[in-house]
Amino acid sequence: MNRELSYKAFEEARQYIPGGVNSPVRALRAVGESPLFVDHAKGVTFTDIDGNEYIDFCLSWGVFIAGHANPVVQEAVQKAILNGTSYGIPTLLETQLARKVSELIPSMQQVRFVNSGTEAVMSAVRVARGFTNRNYIVKFEGCYHGHADHLLVAAGSGVATCGITSSAGVPDGFAQYTLVAPFNDKEAVDRIFSEYGDIIAAVIVEPVPANMGVVPEKNGFLQYLRDITLRYEALLIFDEVITGFRLTLGGAQKYYGITPDLTTVGKIVGGGFPAAAFGGRKEIMSMLAPEGPVYQAGTLSGNPIAMTAGLATLSILSEKDIYNNLNAKAEKFIAELQNILRPKGITISSVGNMFTPFFRKETPTNFREVSQSNQKEFARFWRYMLNNGVYLSPSQFEANFVSIQHTEKYLSDVLEITKGY
Ligand SMILES: *Cc1c(COP(=O)(O)O)cnc(C)c1O
Repeated sequence: MNRELSYKAFEEARQYIPGGVNSPVRALRAVGESPLFVDHAKGVTFTDIDGNEYIDFCLSWGVFIAGHANPVVQEAVQKAILNGTSYGIPTLLETQLARKVSELIPSMQQVRFVNSGTEAVMSAVRVARGFTNRNYIVKFEGCYHGHADHLLVAAGSGVATCGITSSAGVPDGFAQYTLVAPFNDKEAVDRIFSEYGDIIAAVIVEPVPANMGVVPEKNGFLQYLRDITLRYEALLIFDEVITGFRLTLGGAQKYYGITPDLTTVGKIVGGGFPAAAFGGRKEIMSMLAPEGPVYQAGTLSGNPIAMTAGLATLSILSEKDIYNNLNAKAEKFIAELQNILRPKGITISSVGNMFTPFFRKETPTNFREVSQSNQKEFARFWRYMLNNGVYLSPSQFEANFVSIQHTEKYLSDVLEITKGY
C-alpha cells in the first residue's frame, strides 16, 4: 500500500500545525505510523489522498453510527445551508432537537447545546457546582471528559495514548478539587465519600468507559454510584458523549436502567458537525444564565447546520429495530473476532456495538489493567490491519464502533483479514 502523498502532506502540515494534527491521536505515533490524509469517505469506508480505501471502525471517534456521508443527513444539510449558517438568534431547529433529545433521554428534561463534548462536560460540572454549592468532583482513572483543565487528571484517550499523566499548563490549583478513583472500585469511592462526602458536588463517569478502551462496569458499579451520590446529595453526571444514542436510543442510562442527574452527549448528536449538549432536571438546568447565576454561552451554540444534521441523524436512528439489528450484528461479529484472536493472546472487551481488542489474557476492569496490555503488540496488529485496508481506532486507549452500514460482507471480509494475522 503506497502512502507517499500522505507522508508528503504530513511534512507540510508539521510546518504549520503543531505535530501536523489538530488532535493528538490522529498523529498515529502510538501505533508507529504517520497520519493518513483523507480525501473522501462514504458509508463505512474512507479513501486517503493516495487512493487507498479502508474499512473504518473509528468513524470519526464514534460520530458516524449511520455511516459517513449518509444521504439523509447530506440532503438535509445541503438544504439548510441555503438559509444561512448561523444567526446568533434562536431558530426552531434548536427547540426541535432539544425536544427530540429530551424525549429520547428523559433525564435530560432541559438541554443546552454547545460546540464540543469538552464544553458540554465543562458546563455540566459548573452547573453541578452552582447547584450544590460544593466544589469537589470525583472522576475515574482512564475516563476522558474532554480537555478542560480540572478534568485533565488521570485522563484516558489521547492523554493516556501520549503517556501524559497530567498536562503541563494546568496549575495544581485548577485540579485541587478533582478527586480520582479507580473505575469499578467501590471501596475507593467509599473512602473518598467518607472523607469529602458533604463537599462533593458531583461524580462524573463514562457509563461505559470507552476512552481507556471499552471497560464495562461490573458488580453493579453504576448503581452503587447512583446510591452513594443520592445518600450524600451529590449529583451523578453521566458523560455519554460516546454512549449517547450509541448503545440504545436512550443511551447507556437506558441500557443499564440508571438515571443520572446530568448527562452530556456529543459525537452522534451533531451528525458530523460540531455540536454537543448537556442536560438534566429543570431545577438544576435553571441555574444557567439567563434564568440563574451560572454563566455559560457560545457564539455558534445551537448552530442551524449542526442542529439539522443532528435531527437527520436521530431520525435515521429512530427507525424501528435499528439498535436491535445493529447490536445483534455487532455482537455476532465481535464473538467471531474473539474466536480468531483468543489463540493469539488477544482478548476483546465490548458492550453492544463498541469494542476494543486488548493485548492481554483477561479483559481489563480498570485503567491499571488496561495499561498492562502489550502496546507494542497492539501497534503491530494495528499496522497489519491498516496495511490490509482496515482502519481500527489507533490506540489501545480507544474504542471501535460497528455502524449500521457495516454490512455482513464488510464484516466477513474483516474476519478473513484478521485470520491472516
Ligand atoms: C470525545 C469525548 C469528550 C470530548 O468531546 P470533544 O467533542 O472531543 O471535545 C468528552 N467525553 C467523552 C466521554 C468523550 O468520548
